[in-house]
Amino acid sequence: MSEPVQPVLSVRDLCVEYISDRGPVRAVDRVSFDVARGEVLGIAGESGSGKSTVAQAVLRILPPPAVITGGQVRFEGTDLLGLDEDGLRAVRWKRLSMVFQSAMDALNPVLTIGEQLGDTLRAHGAGGPSAASLRERCAELLALVGIQPDRLESFPHQLSGGMRQRVGIAIALALDPALVVLDEPTTALDVIVEGEILEKILELKRRFGFSVIFITHDLTRMMQICDRVAIFYSGRLVELAPAAALRASPRHPYTQGLLKAFPSVHGLDEELASIPGSPPSLRSPPPGCRFHPRCGQVIDRCRTEEPRLTALEGGRSAACHVAR
Ligand code: ATP
Ligand code: MG
Repeated sequence: MSEPVQPVLSVRDLCVEYISDRGPVRAVDRVSFDVARGEVLGIAGESGSGKSTVAQAVLRILPPPAVITGGQVRFEGTDLLGLDEDGLRAVRWKRLSMVFQSAMDALNPVLTIGEQLGDTLRAHGAGGPSAASLRERCAELLALVGIQPDRLESFPHQLSGGMRQRVGIAIALALDPALVVLDEPTTALDVIVEGEILEKILELKRRFGFSVIFITHDLTRMMQICDRVAIFYSGRLVELAPAAALRASPRHPYTQGLLKAFPSVHGLDEELASIPGSPPSLRSPPPGCRFHPRCGQVIDRCRTEEPRLTALEGGRSAACHVAR
């Protein structure tokens, strides 16, 4: 019998709270999911649903006043939440890396692209024995993302937004990571550049075999590039399914509503229909299912009893009393 394949990332019952004078706000509530080797897992949901907070908790880069208040995060067998700063340094960028929405914020404006790529490599002893070998490796990394080597001498402000995102991807891939977290990596770009960059990420993933967590509002894009999709609502994971199954037959009424707001997911010319109402305040979420005040399929139980994420057929799951 073959050994069961371990997921590269395993998140269990993760809770994150933002602490303030008015009391804690639980932005991520008992979230559990795995990412398999070579898998692209999408995380989607309305603004404020906790997507970035989950990603930042996994990467251990949560800004104060956010605090991880519970759960486990295992990455390649290591308990990430138990690591100190030294332990984290050994993992971050080398095995677990990230690309943010705006690479301008992530890049240092006073260093050239070559200096920044070089610093990343050197900081982890991966630059090679000489300045020439370091430059060669930097040029190779730029080539991977489709940028000419003469750009090594450019400063970030001399590049277009799309090129800066490509540099961000080159830095994220510089040390051959096992998992790359992309938080809205192309939101600031026009659709053509966005399409090209996502294609590039997929091509590199096929070549190097890393896993990806891809966060976006855009379900159309999500369906194009993800193997599985996790739908977040108000800090909770409400549905998780292979992308094709989610698209063909969403089970959670919230997912059904989200897909109706993105008719192009089906390539159909349906009328756009947004979900009535807006997400609840995390300070005082409704009892029972947090989606029940907006749900067209609500039953009495939904108002009082919180639905747990429950396995359905086909490797999918949903947190809903009416989903079958
Ligand atoms: P978006 O799609 O807009 O990027 P998101 O799904 O990434 O949204 P998060 O940024 O993770 O959402 O935020 C989740 C929730 O955490 C927000 O609804 C907000 O209530 C809370 N939150 C985020 N940042 C802070 C903060 N600095 N202080 C207090 N609460 C915060
Ligand atoms: Mg976000």
